[in-house]
Amino acid sequence: MEKSITVFQLKGSEYEMGVKQGTHFRYEINELYRKLTSSEEFLASKPFLIPKFLYKGLATIVSSGMIKESIQEYFPSQWRFLEGLSEGADISLRKLLFMQAIDALGTQITNYKIEKNISTSFNHCSAVGVSGSKSTTGGVLMIKNWDGPEYLAEYTIFRNIIPSGERFSTIGSGVAGLVGINNGLNEKGLSIVYNYAYPKDIGDEGVPAMIIIREALETCGTVKETIDLFKKYPRIGGSNVMMADKKGDLAVLEVGPSNVEVRREDDEGQKGWLICTNHYLTSAMKKLEVSRDAIYSEGAAEVFRGKPVHKTSLLRYENAREILKNDSPEQISLDFLNNKIQCSHGRENKPSEFTFCNHGIKISTGFGVMVDVDNEQFYAALGKPCQKEMENLSEQIKSD
Ligand SMILES: [Zn+2]
Repeated sequence: MEKSITVFQLKGSEYEMGVKQGTHFRYEINELYRKLTSSEEFLASKPFLIPKFLYKGLATIVSSGMIKESIQEYFPSQWRFLEGLSEGADISLRKLLFMQAIDALGTQITNYKIEKNISTSFNHCSAVGVSGSKSTTGGVLMIKNWDGPEYLAEYTIFRNIIPSGERFSTIGSGVAGLVGINNGLNEKGLSIVYNYAYPKDIGDEGVPAMIIIREALETCGTVKETIDLFKKYPRIGGSNVMMADKKGDLAVLEVGPSNVEVRREDDEGQKGWLICTNHYLTSAMKKLEVSRDAIYSEGAAEVFRGKPVHKTSLLRYENAREILKNDSPEQISLDFLNNKIQCSHGRENKPSEFTFCNHGIKISTGFGVMVDVDNEQFYAALGKPCQKEMENLSEQIKSD
């Protein structure tokens, strides 16, 4: 199997760690910024992925300080990391903030028939968690496939962050130019994976989810503490955040700018596992979501036009549920989750944008992660899980 993953280790004060990440990935960070903002040629070569609205939306958010002030005020430690990142990568804070905001803006879908406007989603992720009563380890097991545009997958990095002071160390995935963590595990065994969700209103002032997730992993030991943390701070964007801890708690937080709801069972009341894709399941959050009948309209990217907004999310959810309900052993192992769900191409074995292992044309699975919560093992495969073997990153950092 090709290309194994290198875990990038950060140690020290927030500022020092930011400098180190920035220095190491200076080229990638500046290149990503250019790709996101410039250039007719980039827009032309990737016709829909970075629509102009996004540029405008990000510019607005940044210029009005909508995320800047929130990060500074509520997460000063993440802010210092950002300052270090700016120094190391030799890129302005304004440009870096611009990149941090993608995370939230990407969850804004507006180009559909029920309401007019101007944007399109670009990440579709899927996750499954199995509770201790159903797992072979007696603790929670989780898997997650990250789906997005290829150009963004190229900037995925895996970090082992060891902050000085009281904060917990973590292992997880992120993006070269971003402070936050999208999927990770901390030294207390708390594990969090992140999926986009699509509220009608993404809010206009707050902290993007990846930064809140990093804060949670560095300061919380349990699901309960993490829920409180999410509720406490202003948020921008929508997300379905799956989390588990060593006590065996497993939950999905359905997050929007105005609400946070907790889900511990599926829509049929099943409790042995949780599935989470990009639609909300709690009734409170469903009301705030882009309508289930919404269809991408003419203004949307070409590959989306005419398609129901939530179709891929609903079908990926169904793909996993069918396997868990009808095809799973009494006790479920990480291998089973990897081989049978993470690599699944649906009942007909036809890989597509509607399968858990996502093979969409413009948006597809860029990497997968697995977590054995009880044994504190974090695994990842860069590329599609059906083509790449999982590597145990926790073992790798232990032997380094
Ligand atoms: Zn596949």
